[in-house]
Amino acid sequence: MQLIDSHCHLDDDRFDPQRDAVIARAVAAGVRRMVIPATSANRWDKLKQLCTTHEGLYAAYGLHPWFVEQHQVAHLRELDEWLEREQPVAVGECGLDFYASRVDEQWQRQLFTEQLQLAANHRLPVIVHARRAMDDVISLLRLHGSGGVVHSFAGSLQQARQLYDLGFKLGIAATVSFERANKLRAVVAAMPDDALLMESDAPDQPGAAHRGELNEPAYITEHLRTMAELRQCDAADLAATLNRNAETLFKLD
Ligand SMILES: [Zn+2]
Repeated sequence: MQLIDSHCHLDDDRFDPQRDAVIARAVAAGVRRMVIPATSANRWDKLKQLCTTHEGLYAAYGLHPWFVEQHQVAHLRELDEWLEREQPVAVGECGLDFYASRVDEQWQRQLFTEQLQLAANHRLPVIVHARRAMDDVISLLRLHGSGGVVHSFAGSLQQARQLYDLGFKLGIAATVSFERANKLRAVVAAMPDDALLMESDAPDQPGAAHRGELNEPAYITEHLRTMAELRQCDAADLAATLNRNAETLFKLD
């Protein structure tokens, strides 16, 4: 069975001592293709390097809301150039995160809005991060969005349907493997086939079976089974559907 990890941070420094082993385990598990979203401008070079030296790794470039204090207006101009020159599969990771604090809220909104506009100009999908900010994200996507994915979706079924109607997919992370994730489980069970993507968000967000460990792309085969149970379908069929969704959204070969 082949699977696409639609969101993993394989360039993360925590993988430095063992990146080749992590990739080898992913490939052995059937995860041969991975989309790697960026976090901040000073790390785009490392990401590019990684994706040009390994087959099956696809970069997205963007400015992640966690690093809002590092981002500068000049980085948005640089991003425009990178999108033109590098032809990545998406713009991201970008979005709003009001979990840690609402400091820099306006700057977060500006960065997100401008990245949505860049994505539209370059006809690229966006990889969106939304934490404690789903309704705000949906409002901005309604105004400026032109398709993409809300990764590690953690909203309600109503919000899921709003995003789907706006042309956005939902990235499902291993949090779905936690018994208490009732809301997410209901979303996974109810949404149409073309609404969902599979992701690890490695090295963060390990599933129930890997608590306390670094998460890895190889582990998405485990929450694929949970998703297949919830959707009462065959895991191989679901894998084929999810691959097609990722291939279509990111125009993967
Ligand atoms: Zn991420």
